[in-house]
This record gives sequence, C-alpha cells and structure tokens, in this order.
Amino acid sequence: MSDSAIRAFQEALGAEHVLTGDAVVSRYDAGTEPLARRIGAVIRPSSVEDVQRVVRIAGAHRVALYPISTGNNWGYGSAHPMRDDNVVVDLGRMNRVLEVNTELAYVVLEPGVTQRRLYEHLQAERIPLALNPTGAGPECSVLGNTLERGFGIGPNGDHFLAQCGMEVVLANGELLRTGFGHYANAKATYVYKWGVGPYLDGIFTQSNYGIVTKMGVWLAPVPEAFEACYFMCNREEQLAAVIDTVRDLLFNGVFRGPVNLLHRNRVLIMLGRYPWDAMGGRTPLADSVASKLAAEKRIGVWNGVGALSGSAPQVRAAKQTIREALRGKVDRLTFLSASRLKLLQRFPRALSMITGMNVPELLKTLENSYGMMKGVPSEVALSLAYWRNRRQASTLDGRNPAKDHCGLMWFAPIIPMTNRDVQLFRSIIEPILTKNGFDTCITLTAVNERCFDCTLPLLYDLDNPAEAARAHECYGELVEACRAQGYLPYRLGLQSMDNETRRDDPFWRVATTIKNALDPDGILAPGRYSR
Ligand code: ADP
Repeated sequence: MSDSAIRAFQEALGAEHVLTGDAVVSRYDAGTEPLARRIGAVIRPSSVEDVQRVVRIAGAHRVALYPISTGNNWGYGSAHPMRDDNVVVDLGRMNRVLEVNTELAYVVLEPGVTQRRLYEHLQAERIPLALNPTGAGPECSVLGNTLERGFGIGPNGDHFLAQCGMEVVLANGELLRTGFGHYANAKATYVYKWGVGPYLDGIFTQSNYGIVTKMGVWLAPVPEAFEACYFMCNREEQLAAVIDTVRDLLFNGVFRGPVNLLHRNRVLIMLGRYPWDAMGGRTPLADSVASKLAAEKRIGVWNGVGALSGSAPQVRAAKQTIREALRGKVDRLTFLSASRLKLLQRFPRALSMITGMNVPELLKTLENSYGMMKGVPSEVALSLAYWRNRRQASTLDGRNPAKDHCGLMWFAPIIPMTNRDVQLFRSIIEPILTKNGFDTCITLTAVNERCFDCTLPLLYDLDNPAEAARAHECYGELVEACRAQGYLPYRLGLQSMDNETRRDDPFWRVATTIKNALDPDGILAPGRYSR
C-alpha cells in the first residue's frame, strides 16, 4: 500500500490508530482456518465521521477496506479479509451503548459493543432486559454477529429477526439510515423493522455493500418465571419422535427461544480434549471410546435443551405439556429453576449420591448453559475449538481460539425440521468426515419452527499441516455433497465464498449488480459474499 495512503489515514485518525507491521501480524493474522492473508494495515476509527473520512481516503487512493466489529468470527475466517492487501477497519473503539429503551425492550449499539459489554451495562444499570448470547463467547460483537445473521440460544434466537434500524456508511462516504431512520424525528425507527419503501437492511447483512456503524437490537424483557428444560435419549432410534415432538411444541409456543439437540460427540468436545491416549493416536473418535466417555459423564446419544419463560402459570403449564409430550420418548427429562440450580451448587456430592448423577461434572456445563438461555454470555461452547489442540490453552478464562492456534471451520447448513431430512443429511456427512479422520459433532438448533440450523465444527490440529490440508479438502467435499442433495449453509466461511459468488446464476449476478452500483471501485471488502 502507498505511503501517501498511510499518511492520509494517519492525518485523519492520529498515527496511533494506524497500525502496520508486527502490530498487525500479532493481533489480526491469527485465525482458526488454514488460510493466510497479507494485511496492508489496520486502522481504528472512533466515530461515524472517522469512518466516513476513512472511506473517502480509501476511494481517493484506491485502497480496499475490510471492516470488522470485533474481528473474531472464528471458524468462518476470523479477522481475515477475502483478498490480500486490504486495510482492516477495526471498529472496536466504537463501543457505546447509545440508547436503552426499557419500556419497548430495545437497545441501539455501535459495532464494538461486545456481548459482555452489553450484559454488564444492563446489569450495572439494573435494566430488566436480556440479550441473546451466541456460543462464540463474551468478547464477540452483537452487531457483527447480526450482520452475519447468526443466532443465539437465548430469547429472540435469530439475531437478524431482532434487528431494527441501521446506520450505514456507503462506499462514497454518504450516510444511509434504514427503516424510518432517514426521516427527521421518526418515532418508530427502532420498533418497526420495515419502514416504508424497499426494505434495505437485509442487503447490508452477509454482503460487502457498506460499513454498518449503528444498529437497533430488540431484547427480551426479563420474564417473571424462567426454567431450562433438559432431556436425554440413550438410543439413536428415539430421535425421530423427538424431532416431531419438538416441532409441535415450537409451533404451539411451548418452548420460548431455540431448542438445541446435541449429539453425544458434540457434548464431549465441549467437556474435554480428544482422548489421544485411549485412541492410540488414531482419528476419528471410535464409537466404543465415545460411548465409554459418554457413560462416565452421563451424556445421552442425543441431548436436548430448551427454555421456558413467561408468567409463573405459563411456565407451569409449559412444563406439564412437555412432560406429557415427551413421555416414553426420552430417557430423562429435567427442569432447572434458579432455586434448583442453587441447591445443586451447594450440595453437589450429596445430590450425586441421591440422584446417581455426576453432579459436579454436570454443573460445569449446566451453570453456563442455563445462564446463556437467560441472556448471560459464556465461554462454555468455545471450549470445543480446543478438541484437537495439542497445546495448552493460554488461559482458561479469556479463551481465544485464534490466538491459541485451534483448528476450527464451521459448516452450518439449514435442514428442514423432519427426521427424513436429518437422516439424509447425516448419511451424506458422516462417511465424508470419517474417511478424512474427523469427528461428526453436530448440534441441531431449531432457529424457527420449520428448520434446524445444523452447526458442524470441523475440528483439526492447526499445528499439523497435513491434517489442516485434509480439513480444508474435507470441508469442500462436505459443501459439494450437501449441495448436490439440496442442503445449503446459512453462512459461509472465507474458504467457500468464491465458489458461491462466482456461480453464474441470476441471484449472484443481481448481487454483483448491486455491488457495482453502490461501490463501483470495489473499496469495501472485495470478494466478501459478493464479487
Ligand atoms: P465477531 O467478532 O462477533 O465474530 P466480526 O467483527 O468478526 O464479528 O464480524 C463478522 C464479519 O462481519 C466480519 O468479518 C465482517 O466481514 C462483517 N462485519 C462486521 N462488522 C461489520 C460492520 N460494522 N460493517 C460491515 N461489515 C461488518
């Protein structure tokens, strides 16, 4: 990149907010994917005016920018741009909670607001609203995940459904406000998603059409009553009836928020490292070893978790309905209230003896998963990234899979919520994963009443170049085989974007036409979800 462009960024933002050389490599180069990118520089604006200035400078100097909010995006590309020599625009300094409306249950956020920051803000101000945390951990951006159309396990599962009103810096430096936000004094900008006229918010998600500098996000009022529901099946054959029942319960509004069905292997990867010794160094994980581990930890072949909330009578009625609906279909069904959790925490050993359950082991995940469904961000799901990592994690708290050199790529296709589809999908992926030496660790998340988002982490040893190359190939094989049968991912990793966006069909051609109209010089995130 030219010295004159660097100087222009330095003049606009101050030299300390323009990083080059080693400072760039150490923080932004790390990723969980087997990818390398040359990053030109990193700049750190602190306001929307800064972002506008940066975009205009980039236009004048023909420099490509790659905006990130917190830049984690582990398993989908981390902070890496699609192309070499982009300037990463780190929006982390723009981290204000701009507005909280308790009565109408929404917040207005800047890109750098992490799940932790929002949670702590709500706690400190005693605001009775709950966020919807993702498994990616407390240090991820609420806005960044919404732009990727991610989801959480708390209330309002699908993040983009809970988004309302955006402010976007366009490639020409202009500021666009969506919904009603472009009318002076509009009263309903953050309470009515669609505004009037074409609905534009969607085109700024999973795209490279603008830099989003502000967003309204709907939260859930803290309910009068809340309980988590856990169930477990010991046999594969039970899954079909469970899927049908869960779908009915969701359609009837009994569960509030997503239900997750976790395969045994998916729970195992959250609770420890790959059992290299028991496996004699071989991969993938043998069924006999997995079963033994699962028995020790009292994990079912399928493990379900969902949330109940509302008034106390509503929650009581929901529990009763679930008991009846799942009777005879699952081997264990438990409801967990705050008071029951406290009891477990106070008397873990005594309760282990009474219930025959491994309560201390159970508590490791229960406390966190229970908290997440209530809106408390946690690192509990993040530990899965370390499954094949042979190094020690740098710390137990503040986990960062990219810095800790974990090998992780997410494949996340959408599966219609029928047992037929789930079984067909599994019959495609399992042989491919097994052949390549990887473990099949799926969660089926009911992101709505009609489909599962199946998150499949492809976990490998990033320190082993041969295994990393095989993971890369295996990923491509999974995508192609699933596509052939009609199962497509809801979100793409950097490694598969070009394959999609270069397809010659009207959809991707229109996406390119919009890109060319809004950003004719290709200043913003070239190659990201669009050419
Ligand atoms: P997280 O750290 O929460 O995973 P990121 O900041 O990595 O989120 O965001 C994920 C991806 O979304 C980024 O790689 C980037 O392409 C895009 N993105 C994030 N924030 C913005 C933004 N404010 N404007 C435009 N695109 C963004």
